Amino acid sequence: MDARDLDAYCDAHQPRFVDELVEFCRIPSISADPAHAGDVRRSAEQLAQAARDAGFATAELIETPGHPAVYAERLVDPGLPTVLIYGHHDIQPVDPLEEWTSPPFEPRIVGEELRCRGAADDKGQVWMHLKAVEAHLRTRGELPLNLKLVVEGEEEIGSAHFEGLIEAEATRLRADLCVVSDTAMHDRGQPSICVGLRGLVDLGIEVAGPALDLHSGEFGGAVLNPLEALARILASLRDVQTGRVTVPGFYDEVTELTREERAQVAAAPFDEAAFREVAGGVPATFGENGYTTTERLTVRPTLEINGVWGGYQGPGPKTIIPARAGAKITCRLVPCQRPEVIANRVRAAIEAACPDAVRVTVTPGGGSRPVLTPVDHPGVLAASRAMREVFGAEVYCTRAGGSIHPVEMFDRVLGLPSVLVGFGLPDDRIHAPNEKFDVGQFRSGIRVLTRLWDDLAVSLPKRARTES
Ligand SMILES: [Zn+2]
Repeated sequence: MDARDLDAYCDAHQPRFVDELVEFCRIPSISADPAHAGDVRRSAEQLAQAARDAGFATAELIETPGHPAVYAERLVDPGLPTVLIYGHHDIQPVDPLEEWTSPPFEPRIVGEELRCRGAADDKGQVWMHLKAVEAHLRTRGELPLNLKLVVEGEEEIGSAHFEGLIEAEATRLRADLCVVSDTAMHDRGQPSICVGLRGLVDLGIEVAGPALDLHSGEFGGAVLNPLEALARILASLRDVQTGRVTVPGFYDEVTELTREERAQVAAAPFDEAAFREVAGGVPATFGENGYTTTERLTVRPTLEINGVWGGYQGPGPKTIIPARAGAKITCRLVPCQRPEVIANRVRAAIEAACPDAVRVTVTPGGGSRPVLTPVDHPGVLAASRAMREVFGAEVYCTRAGGSIHPVEMFDRVLGLPSVLVGFGLPDDRIHAPNEKFDVGQFRSGIRVLTRLWDDLAVSLPKRARTES
């Protein structure tokens, strides 16, 4: 598809695009800090204005019990496909401030890097979408398809009110595809599309023994120590020889990969030594036998102990048998595991492993389902074509080990598939001091998105379309 007209417009206006992003990044829209609530609102208002300036027909704030989201749309023709763009305008806190080499809200361009909080996650990537829309409208007068945009203000605090928002706004948010730009590419010069995200479920465990801490001389030897019982329970959940979770039924619904799918997972380059370095210099990797490190990280489920508490932690010895002990556990889930089913099985395994001399209470918390977009979905194919053309390189389909709650909500609540077309880089230091976004990635990303709208206008199949 010929995009020379769009490229020429973007080239001519690139310096202004960057200046605008710099202004947007000056707003400290830290959603976690109540003191910045006004700033989160200000960033929503500035974004809504920028969406109108870019050419969205309407743009408004959607209020939530927490921070506001922004909704914008430009509906061209009900016969054309409709794409919903998702992003977030809130950002992470900046602590530790002393580790920043320049103030986090005074954006600075150093070489290729635009340095400030939110540059890559996610303000720069949201801004690319606005500029791609602007390029289409100023060059050709109209968009080739219907676009809707929802930009959340609470992603960095767990999207607590977003499910309520999409339930309430289900009609307006109806679309054929959701495009999310809130992730990183596989690496510099190695474009990738994320097609899978793992799900999550969490559980709290409490082991109770005596009603009060006991003297270990007077009672030790005749009373089971809750910390010891907890250690035995936790150790029983995984087989150290095979690396497998031993919870009965844990793997029952797990979809085994085909030979082709394993080849796809293996296609993106992976450096084991570099991974160990990124993982804080661990001496060796550890995981389930029979699977590569990439597979263990993305297509296999896990059970992790996140914390253990109990007993005396102060200076010097204290000779007690503690009254209680506890732990927090999370499981990362893969298709087709369900959080509530896995939570029940883990709870049953813990209760079965609990010795008679103590009592155990297991409290399941929240969860999210794994999501997977087929690699041959028209949206994935279109995004691959657009990325390949702009970056001039093969595009990998990857899966992420983590979870993006809104993507799971779109899938579960709206039945809406998502394509994760992210333009960050692995060294962007998101959530950390000195976050940056490469200006070249910002430039290329806008070009990918202008092409993506052209491609989807003709490639997103009719049968999948919904009324706009
Ligand atoms: Zn983000």
